[in-house]
Amino acid sequence: MGKCMIIGCGGVASVAIHKCCQNSEVFEGIMIASRTKSKCDALKEKLQPTTKTVIETAQVNADNVDELIALIESYRPDVVLNLALPYQDLTIMDACLATGTHYVDTANYEPLDTAKFEYKWQWAYRERFEKAGITALLGSGFDPGVTGVFSAYAMKHHFDEINYIDILDCNGGDHGYPFATNFNPEINIREVSAKGSYIENGKWIETEPMEIKRVYNFKDVGEKDMYLLHHEELESLALNIKGIKRIRFFMTFGQSYLTHLKCLENVGMTSIEPIMYEGREIVPLQFLKAVLPDPASLGPRTVGKTNIGCIFRGKKDGNDKSYYLYNICDHQECYKEVGSQAISYTTGVPAMIGAMMIMTGKWNKAGVYNIEEFDPDPFMEALNKWGLPWEEDFDPVLVE
Ligand code: NDP
Repeated sequence: MGKCMIIGCGGVASVAIHKCCQNSEVFEGIMIASRTKSKCDALKEKLQPTTKTVIETAQVNADNVDELIALIESYRPDVVLNLALPYQDLTIMDACLATGTHYVDTANYEPLDTAKFEYKWQWAYRERFEKAGITALLGSGFDPGVTGVFSAYAMKHHFDEINYIDILDCNGGDHGYPFATNFNPEINIREVSAKGSYIENGKWIETEPMEIKRVYNFKDVGEKDMYLLHHEELESLALNIKGIKRIRFFMTFGQSYLTHLKCLENVGMTSIEPIMYEGREIVPLQFLKAVLPDPASLGPRTVGKTNIGCIFRGKKDGNDKSYYLYNICDHQECYKEVGSQAISYTTGVPAMIGAMMIMTGKWNKAGVYNIEEFDPDPFMEALNKWGLPWEEDFDPVLVE
């Protein structure tokens, strides 16, 4: 069917690449292009004997638009799948515009110097993508990603209007360490120590970090404490789903994780201000990252499940209605299949599916779009087929 260029070769990219290779009918060729080429070559060596997909590799600095343009022109992919870091979104979009190539990512742009992620920078590309006749699909991971597809599906099949959405992200996995992070510790700790926020009646309401706590009993995981966090898809869903009055995002954290984090914060280990140590400048948080377990090493030892989904409340035919859509994913099953734990798996699978939607022409409109702006049905079907089956509950316990 076509060719896809994947930029980045980290945790999420590795899963997406495994999945493209399982789906050679659509992904006839892929190019893995990243900063460290040896990682791309190692993955090619592992996967090429197992697949008909023709794998090529390249070194690229995705901060450099000219380098990206040259590489895209030499490979001529149908779509570029950006699985590097959010800092590279705009340079990769620029290169896609210059070469007339479709674009897909999983996280919105964040400037290096301010930890504030929002869509305004990428939405500013709308007219240029429209004029160029190409698509930018924003946020094709799990959250954002599947949560947007779930919302569009609920809207299309179950509601006339959706008034309340609660996104619940539960990781019931246990890696056996007293303290470790499932992804990049620097980004993880910055995210959870930031202020929380949610949208009510069209306005952002800010909370102190971890100020709002709820307890929820998740299917196949059990009862967990969850905390309200700021999350990027709140911004687009509040605009794109009809009738929204309030939308919130909750993530589970265990008591041990929070106690360790508080202690590290209290002694200054999570600070990003450089300090002098034995004549050398060091950043405490970066030093902390160096002593914590590498997230990639958690795969073989993480057991348990994730349960991520959305609870919708609204109206259908004049009646009140509630509806819960979620996916349960098993860490060890993921590790057996693709050598990664469920956090990378639940992001890498939808990234592959997003690229597939564009390559097969199932999603075909020029411009810059969030994922909930497309027809959810083919994506929902693909989730069932490619490893993230969803379940539904028409009488869910609600979050107060
Ligand atoms: P990793 O840190 O594991 O991987 C990032 C990859 O990008 C690395 O291979 C890195 O190269 C490469 N890279 C970084 N900078 C550049 C550059 N300038 N040029 C070329 N390559 C570069 O991250 P993850 O795989 O965990 O995350 C990938 C993306 O997925 C992130 O944007 C993250 O925010 C997003 N994400 C989205 C989720 C969702 O549900 N929507 C959930 C989790 C993540 P090197 O190997 O040299 O370091």
